[in-house]
Amino acid sequence: MRIKKRSSILFTYTIILLLLMSLVSFYSIYITSSISNDAMIINKLGIVRGAMQRAVKQELSDLSSNEMINKVDMTLIEFKTEKIKLFDKDNEVMNAIQDVEAAWSKVKISIQEYQKNRSEENRMKLIKDSEDGWHKANNMVLISQLSSEHKISKFKLSFVVFFFNILLSVLIIFLIKKYVKDSLEGMVNYDSLTNIHNRRSFAEFLHHEIARSERYHKVFSLIMLDIDYFKKINDGYGHDIGDKILQELTGIVNQCIRKSDLFARVGGEEFAVVAPETSLEDARLLAEKIREKVEGNIFTKNLKVTISLGISQYKSKDDTNTIFKRADNALYKAKENGRNRSEVELLEEASEIA
Ligand code: GH3
Ligand code: MG
Ligand code: MG
Repeated sequence: MRIKKRSSILFTYTIILLLLMSLVSFYSIYITSSISNDAMIINKLGIVRGAMQRAVKQELSDLSSNEMINKVDMTLIEFKTEKIKLFDKDNEVMNAIQDVEAAWSKVKISIQEYQKNRSEENRMKLIKDSEDGWHKANNMVLISQLSSEHKISKFKLSFVVFFFNILLSVLIIFLIKKYVKDSLEGMVNYDSLTNIHNRRSFAEFLHHEIARSERYHKVFSLIMLDIDYFKKINDGYGHDIGDKILQELTGIVNQCIRKSDLFARVGGEEFAVVAPETSLEDARLLAEKIREKVEGNIFTKNLKVTISLGISQYKSKDDTNTIFKRADNALYKAKENGRNRSEVELLEEASEIA
């Protein structure tokens, strides 16, 4: 269950990250093309500003030529007919261009008047209009530069977000790796129905506990438990109810044991508890506690369930099979003696090995 939940959380994070990455990438592409377009616009506006000045200068120096006037006209027409497009309809720049158009119309009229009559008055008017035109054109270039610089700062921000995304990706890859490792470990060591250890994990723990007890001269005990008349429950209520009871039973046992104990499902409705540092007598008390709790519990569909338990204690020279066999024999004895009870290993079996 936990693994499933983690998997959907990781999936959601990965999707969010991918969306964020795509968004940042698209934004960066947009800003990059916008900035390169801006560079072209600034260049064109600079041409307008320069050509306006040169046209007036030529006129005042009696070197009349339509070349510069045409250049300004053509460039302004390019903006007007949207041959040159402002990338994101920048109103400030558009207004500035309109101001320049108006000022340029005045300059052109003054040029024509000056061409007709080269009086001092017309000369002064041309200089004044040209001055006004220059200010407007200069203003237009500055505004477009500012607007572009503003975009560059946004561009920097998108780099920061991009870097942050990379860090996030590394984190997510790490979490996915951990998730895969945990899931694989879960599959190898845990029972999928009850979420407790499986037989493989039990055998490994038992083996390890035997080695540890032998090395440090410690004791530990093994409790085997089996549900009484479980077939009847399955036959009477169905397999799903049977499964539910197995889950409820593991919940009860989990509440009775210590963290250092290992609880495993070793067969269909057979379970084992390995209790380190626990004598036969203490294990018997634990077994009785579990048995009473199960007996007193009301299971799904208001069912009452009982269990039988068999207990053995580690003896020198034990291996996984011998200690398991003794607990299993004790469990068999509990069944024989009427069920809903716990039995310790046969004394002669124990002393044989001791
Ligand atoms: P006893 O008191 O002698 O133990 O009687 P019993 O009916 O419990 O007999 P036994 O232990 O032999 O029965 C095991 C039953 O457990 C048979 C099988 O249908 C059932 N079983 C095994 N695995 C599962 C499982 O995963 N889910 C369910 N619902 N039932 C299972
Ligand atoms: Mg049974
Ligand atoms: Mg059984």
